Amino acid sequence: MSDRAKLFWSSMAELGLGASVQSLVGGVLRDGTGATISLEDPYAQTELASYPDCGAELAAEACDAAREAQQIWAREFSSARRGEIMQDIARAVQTHVETLATLEALVAGKPIRDCRIEVAKVIEMFRYYAGWADKLHGEVIPVPSGHLNYTLREPLGVVFQITPWNAPIFTAGWQIAPAIATGNGVVIKPSELTPVTTVALVKIAESAGLLQGLVNVLCGLGPTSGQAAIEHSTVRKVVFVGSPETGRRVAVAAAQALKPAVLELGGKSANIVFEDANLKHACLGAQAAIFSSAGQSCVAGSRLLVHQSVHAELLEMIADGMDAIRLGDPLDEATEIGPISNARQFGHVNQMITGAQAEGADVLTRQNTPQTGYFVPPTVLAGLTNTAQAAQTEIFGPVVTAIPFADEKEAISTANDTMFGLAGAVWTNDIGRAHRMSEAIRAGTFWINSYKAIHVSSPFGGSLNSGFGRSSGTDALMEYTSPKSIWIDSGETPKIAFGYVS
Ligand code: NAD
Repeated sequence: MSDRAKLFWSSMAELGLGASVQSLVGGVLRDGTGATISLEDPYAQTELASYPDCGAELAAEACDAAREAQQIWAREFSSARRGEIMQDIARAVQTHVETLATLEALVAGKPIRDCRIEVAKVIEMFRYYAGWADKLHGEVIPVPSGHLNYTLREPLGVVFQITPWNAPIFTAGWQIAPAIATGNGVVIKPSELTPVTTVALVKIAESAGLLQGLVNVLCGLGPTSGQAAIEHSTVRKVVFVGSPETGRRVAVAAAQALKPAVLELGGKSANIVFEDANLKHACLGAQAAIFSSAGQSCVAGSRLLVHQSVHAELLEMIADGMDAIRLGDPLDEATEIGPISNARQFGHVNQMITGAQAEGADVLTRQNTPQTGYFVPPTVLAGLTNTAQAAQTEIFGPVVTAIPFADEKEAISTANDTMFGLAGAVWTNDIGRAHRMSEAIRAGTFWINSYKAIHVSSPFGGSLNSGFGRSSGTDALMEYTSPKSIWIDSGETPKIAFGYVS
C-alpha cells in the first residue's frame, strides 16, 4: 500500500469510518451492493479505495430513517436545544479540522490550506444556523375579517440534497446546517467521487449529539440511489448542487413527483475591468477569480472582459504572474493550485483548450507542471469573441477567456450574453459606474473591486442555467420551511360565510 493510501485509511480510521467506504443510514455504517466505484487520488493518479454503489434499496432505507428521526427532532427537541446541539457539532468539527482537511486534499485534490479554510467555513455554518434555530417565528397578520391570523414556519420534513465533487465538505455543511436548524431530516448524496468527508462530518455530528438517522449519507451513483431518493414518498424537497445537465434531469424527476427543487448550478461569470481600475488589484483579482481551486469553482471568473485601452497590458501582467503560482501536491503546505479533481474533468478541460485553439485562440500558458497528477496550468485564451465555445461553455478549470470591450454598453451586453446568471464583478474607481454595472449585470452575486467573497450570512444562488432558489443566509431558512396560516374566530357569533374562498 502506498504512503498516500495508508494516510487515507489512517485518516478514515481516526474519523471512525472503518475499513471501507460506506453509507451512513440510521446512524449505522452500511455497505452498498451495486457497481464498483473507484476513488482515485488525482495527484498520484492511483486508486485510494473502491466501494460498491449503495443502490436504490439503501436509499429508500435512508429516506425512511430520516423521516422517523425528523418526527422526533421536530416534536421532541425544542428549537433552543436544536441550536445547542448544532453548537456542539461545530465544536466537535473543530477538533478534527486537520484530519478532515487531509482526507479532502487526498480525495478531491484541493490544496490542504484551502481544505482547512473550507472546514472552518463548515464550523461557521453550524454556528450561524445554530443561532437561528430559536429565532425563526411567524407573524400576526391584521386580516380585515376580525379573525386572529398568525403564521408558523414549519419544517418541510425530509429533504434530499445532492452535492458535487469540487467542494465536498463545504457543500455538505452549507446544506445540512440550515436544513436541520429548521427541523428537517436529511438524506444527502455527495458525489460518488468524493463521498468520505461528508460521511465523516455526519459521524462527528452524531458523536456530538445529533440524533442518529436525522442526517443520512448515501455513497453512490446518481441514476441509482439519487433517482430513488428523489422519488421516495418521504422526501419533500430536492436541493441539487452540480452541473446544469444533471440539474435538469433532477428537476424533471422532482417535478414528475410534484416536489419543489432548489438548483445551484454552473456559471460563466464575467469579471469586468475598466481602464480607470487599479490594474494591480484587478490582476490579482482576475488570477484569484479563475486560478484558485484550479478554476473548479461555480463562481469562477471565467470570462475576463477588459477595456480595450488596457487589455494588452492586463493580459501581460496576468501572464507574468502565472509562473509564480505554486502548483503541486495538495498535501504540500506551499501548494496554491492542485490538480484537476478527476480524470473525466481533466479530459473536459483539455478538450476545451484544444477546441479554443481550433477556433483561433491565442493560448497564453505556463509550460511547467508537476510530473504526476491531472494538472492543467493556468491558461489565458485571447483573440476570441464572446460567441466562441470557450466563452459560452463552463470549462471548470484554470482557463480564462479574455475579451476586449469598447465601452460600458458593450461590457454589459457581452457580460449578459450567456445562458448563465451566477456571479460577476467589476473593477473601477468610478462609483457611479460601479453601481450601474451591479444593476445591469445578471448575477445572483456581484462584487465591486473584489472577487469570490462569500459568507454563510449572505444569500447565494443564480438564474437561468445557473439554477433557481437560494442558499445561505435567511433565504435558506425560507427554502427549508413552509409557512402555515392559522385563523382563529373568537367572536360570539361565528364569522362564517359561503364564498369566502373560491
Ligand atoms: P454533476 O452534475 O456531474 O454531479 C453532481 C451530483 O449529481 C453528483 O452527486 C452526482 O452523483 C449526482 N447525479 C448525477 N446524475 C444524477 C441523477 N441522474 N440523479 C440524481 N443525481 C445525479 O456535477 P459535478 O461534475 O459533480 O460538479 C461540477 C458542477 O457543479 C459544475 O457545473 C459547477 O459549476 C457546479 N457547482 C455549482 C455550485 C453552485 O452553488 N452553484 C457549487 C459547486 C459546484
